[in-house]
Amino acid sequence: MRLVLLGAPGSGKGTQAARLKTALGVPHISTGDMLRAAVAAGTAMGLKAKAVMDAGQLVSDDILLGMLEDRLAQDDARAGFILDGYPRNLAQADALDQLLAKIGQPLDAVIKLEVPNEAIIGRCEIRFKAEGRADDNPDTVRKRLAIYAEQTAPVADFYARRGKLQVVDGVGELDQITIRIRQALQNEAAAAG
Ligand code: AMP
Repeated sequence: MRLVLLGAPGSGKGTQAARLKTALGVPHISTGDMLRAAVAAGTAMGLKAKAVMDAGQLVSDDILLGMLEDRLAQDDARAGFILDGYPRNLAQADALDQLLAKIGQPLDAVIKLEVPNEAIIGRCEIRFKAEGRADDNPDTVRKRLAIYAEQTAPVADFYARRGKLQVVDGVGELDQITIRIRQALQNEAAAAG
């Protein structure tokens, strides 16, 4: 299963991907987690990315593509993957298409978790208090939501035009949301024959 999870920051992509990975038997690949690991490790790339991330902006497409290409080349990704946080703009969606065509692993499904902005702001405030992520402070969350609307929302349209997008309600009990996603994946598989 090769799946992209789309959705605004705080829409629950990471939480749901972590739940789905065991059931689907594929790794959860979060570009945000990979960048945070690079920051924590103090690599040159991490140092460069940190200021951009803390400001709620997007890290450069080149860095992201290189990182993703290396990750998808690892053994565990041969069985498939759940991509969380990539692609975040149209250039990345194109780059992903080309990369997956090159390695002969086209996407099976794209799921967008839909959560209203007011709920997102509340969830990020809770995460900010619990985890202390600098980019979860309320001002930065508003900036990230604006970037999402401007740059990432068109990615959902890009997949919708190809009949690949399924929109799932991301509000409610975690178990219910997981069930909705699995149902959407089954619908996709049935439609693909
Ligand atoms: P996330 O954990 O997915 O919300 O990502 C946290 C931060 O990492 C984002 O606000 C961006 O600064 C950066 N980031 C993660 N994924 C990407 C991406 N695909 N393109 C650019 N920046 C990214």
